Amino acid sequence: MLAVEKVHTLITARPQADQFRLAALHRYHILDTPACEDFSFLTELAAQVCEVPYAFISLVDAERVWIKSCAGMQLGELPRGESYCSLAVLGDAVTEIPDLAEDPRTAHMTLTVNAPHMRMYSSVALSSSDGHAIGTLCVLDTKPGRLSEAQRTTLARLARQVMALIELRANERSLEAAVRELELLATTDDLTGLHNRRSLQHRLKFEVARARRFRSPLSALMIDVDHFKKVNDEYGHMVGDQVLANIGRMLRESLRVIDLPSRYGGEELCIVLPNTPVDGACKLAENLRVKIEALLHSAGARQFQVTASIGVGAFNHMEINDADSLLQQADAALYRAKHAGRNRVECGSE
Ligand code: GH3
Ligand code: MG
Ligand code: MG
Repeated sequence: MLAVEKVHTLITARPQADQFRLAALHRYHILDTPACEDFSFLTELAAQVCEVPYAFISLVDAERVWIKSCAGMQLGELPRGESYCSLAVLGDAVTEIPDLAEDPRTAHMTLTVNAPHMRMYSSVALSSSDGHAIGTLCVLDTKPGRLSEAQRTTLARLARQVMALIELRANERSLEAAVRELELLATTDDLTGLHNRRSLQHRLKFEVARARRFRSPLSALMIDVDHFKKVNDEYGHMVGDQVLANIGRMLRESLRVIDLPSRYGGEELCIVLPNTPVDGACKLAENLRVKIEALLHSAGARQFQVTASIGVGAFNHMEINDADSLLQQADAALYRAKHAGRNRVECGSE
């Protein structure tokens, strides 16, 4: 009974500060990633060099050991208590168990008891940049035995290559994330979360080219908040900013993903509507005008509403042939909407 308890303690033993080790592992974002040839190559090389049928790259997670790559057999993951590698991350950089069936820590484990009846295990820890053993490169055999000194040295070198590859993949991943974030920052208006003017102009060129190529309809709305100066004068600039942010959020929630809402400048917004003919654009404009008028804004305890005027421009394959003229047409319509009394939509050219 005492012996069983002792064995159990060994298997469930966790390195001190396992949470730091796990944090190091999770920083690499490698768990549950798809199979990859570069890792398979190193695993197969390890099996070949050590002259054994099996090799694994194992990562020791909180409750499981997840196999990144295997040679000799297919294995996805094992419970932590059923894996030789969970013992390997407990201490020494190199772990060798010459006869798994004779060792009380491993004799009862599934891979020892059941096919393929593993007998020899040798591993080198995969050490994170901050010194934690996150897993192993290990080789196994169904015959008991030991690696030669030369094989052990090569296995250690291969383990360093595996770790370098894990580091490389993690760096590539964070670089991609940084590029995506920069792209977002460079194309988004902070206050409204809409495209900024530069992004709109860039995307509009593609949309015009596409409309021309496929003869598909393309429209643009130019929206200007009415008497916005008064909002700033009466409630202050910060409240004015909040009004623009509220309108921006409403637009983001109301439009299709293919539409391009942008902050064109100040309190002027522009929405490019791919695949939308002028009558559809006018209906949408009226819809948005009503929604802008319905929005409630707050200034302390007070609530107020604003209105907007909207001009609609449509890409005409016969006459309008560039992005500028599409926006000029929308702008001219907006000018007419202002002159006709504001809080209204004007469509197309006169
Ligand atoms: P209307 O368009 O109906 O003719 O009147 P308006 O008062 O809106 O006129 P105008 O377009 O000339 O003025 C726009 C004002 O919007 C001027 C500026 O102070 C304010 N504004 C522009 N950008 C911002 C901004 O980012 N935040 C705030 N709070 N105000 C802004
Ligand atoms: Mg205005
Ligand atoms: Mg304006």
